[in-house]
Amino acid sequence: MECLFCKIAQGEMNTDILYKDEQIIAFRDIAPQAPSHILLIPRHHISTLNDLAGDDTKLMGHMTVIAQRIAQQIGIAESGYRLVMNCNQNGGQSVFHIHMHLLGGRQMCWPPG
Ligand code: AMP
Repeated sequence: MECLFCKIAQGEMNTDILYKDEQIIAFRDIAPQAPSHILLIPRHHISTLNDLAGDDTKLMGHMTVIAQRIAQQIGIAESGYRLVMNCNQNGGQSVFHIHMHLLGGRQMCWPPG
């Protein structure tokens, strides 16, 4: 069965998209864990962080810079936010197409659960 986030990247789902370019898209998480909860994904399929290759360095840097820009745009940059990427079972990954969580709008806890 085709990957859920590949379908979102291909525009096949009814998703609240905040940003897109030729490499990545960003959209609101369907089950937000904070007042602001946005996911950033690469358009092409990468299952887990373990599958990143050397030439994904630019992609990962780009994703981080766009996350920062979105945080500015939605007004959580100064109050603060958290970027999270979960990997495999112990990391709590449930969708196997890499994604960066941008979470903000409330005080985050440490250590994370
Ligand atoms: P993770 O547990 O790190 O793999 O995160 C997967 C995230 O994808 C969760 O926060 C889900 O709420 C979110 N999610 C699952 N399906 C959708 C969807 N159709 N649209 C937006 N977010 C989704």
